[in-house]
Amino acid sequence: MSPQRLDAVAWMDDAACASRTDLPWLGDDARTHATKTMAAICRTCLVLDQCEAFVRADGIVGGFWAGRDRGPALIPTQADLFGQAG
Ligand code: SF4
Repeated sequence: MSPQRLDAVAWMDDAACASRTDLPWLGDDARTHATKTMAAICRTCLVLDQCEAFVRADGIVGGFWAGRDRGPALIPTQADLFGQAG
């Protein structure tokens, strides 16, 4: 990892999720029984704002970040936006 990239993720040193590696933070589908637990941990996290900014800047799709599931199911489909064709 480049020095610039290391600086960009230095906020992760204070991530509350780092002490709860038993939870599925980076799972492809974070919608599990643990979602409420992970959301509660995020609400207490010192770097919640930095985490949200990181997810948006990197276009992360998947896992549970900054208090919510970032799985592809949350991305609206054309049918969601424009209704069913036909
Ligand atoms: S906001 Fe949540 S996912 Fe982001 S670093 Fe904090 S605990 Fe981890």
